[in-house]
Amino acid sequence: MNIVLLGAPGAGKGTQAQKLVDLGLAHISTGDLLRGAVKEGTELGVKAKEYMDAGQLVPDSLVIGLVKERLAKPDVEAGFMLDGFPRNTAQAETLDEMLAELGKPIDAALLVDVKPEVIIERLSGRRTCRACNYTGTKADEVCPRCGGEMYQRDDDKPETIQKRLNTYAEQTEPLIAYYEGKGLLKSVDGDRPVDEVFADVKVALGI
Ligand code: AMP
Repeated sequence: MNIVLLGAPGAGKGTQAQKLVDLGLAHISTGDLLRGAVKEGTELGVKAKEYMDAGQLVPDSLVIGLVKERLAKPDVEAGFMLDGFPRNTAQAETLDEMLAELGKPIDAALLVDVKPEVIIERLSGRRTCRACNYTGTKADEVCPRCGGEMYQRDDDKPETIQKRLNTYAEQTEPLIAYYEGKGLLKSVDGDRPVDEVFADVKVALGI
């Protein structure tokens, strides 16, 4: 099964994706791929960082190349989830072309739906593991999954959060209608405990 995860930053896409990994789906997060490139200091990482720090989208050409490379890896054969990609209509159209060539069409676009006021509270309390990218909260002194160091992403600081939400509303939200038009949209209420949301995710995806 091949899935696109939709929802505002902080809606819980990554958290649900981490649970779907246990069911054998490859987790492809463009945010994680970009942060990896920034950490390694690659040319792409250096270019991407200024957009990320400003709460803006990284240019399509950079992100699409990363996704293409990732989709060529063998673990996507068993199915994959795209988390944070596509982020605008141009990326969605390119993705459709790429997946048609690979013979791996999208089976569902899953919207994790959460109100903006909840998002702001969640993002400012979010902490991420430096080693394995696990997403936790301020309460996690070390990563509950691998024991790694938890840190606050630069773009989870209050001054950037509102900009990211504006970017989402302007550029990414229209994708809900894009996938609805294709008959692929499934929606779950993300403003509930993680396991309850996950139960709904499984029902929505029929797994
Ligand atoms: P995320 O971890 O998905 O919230 O992504 C963090 C940041 O990486 C975003 O605010 C963007 O600057 C950048 N980014 C992630 N995915 C994409 C994408 N598909 N297109 C453009 N920029 C992206």
